[in-house]
Amino acid sequence: MNFLSGTYGFDILSIFLLVLGMFFNFGEYSRYISYLLMIIVIFRALSKNTYKRNTELTKFTSIINKILGRFGKRLPYPLPKASLESYPILFRQMKSKWDQKRKYKKQYKIVKCPKCKQKLRLPRGQKSIIVTCKKCSNEFKMKT
Ligand SMILES: [Zn+2]
Repeated sequence: MNFLSGTYGFDILSIFLLVLGMFFNFGEYSRYISYLLMIIVIFRALSKNTYKRNTELTKFTSIINKILGRFGKRLPYPLPKASLESYPILFRQMKSKWDQKRKYKKQYKIVKCPKCKQKLRLPRGQKSIIVTCKKCSNEFKMKT
């Protein structure tokens, strides 16, 4: 992903333009406006002139903050921003989390105590075990 290094990525302005584009997407001619907005979003994401893109973002947020200011609100600071380079890393992190969850699900079964509804974690593959609830000490038999 070398060609993505140093590219600007997506910010709140890009998201705003995409949402705006969705509104224009319905009309027959206004559709072209939404295409244009999409091209701008892609152009900004791949742009390496981060200084200029940041200036656009600052202008945009100051306008939004002026509007929000009338209602006594502000945009969060710092704003969440995602560079395209970070996506493969984010994806790997998410995937390893999913793998861990799946592995965990294979090893354990989560059951609810029939009496107090407390969630209990039991090892899988037991033919017939007597479970003692850790919360209410209720005992019940089950297969996992
Ligand atoms: Zn219980």
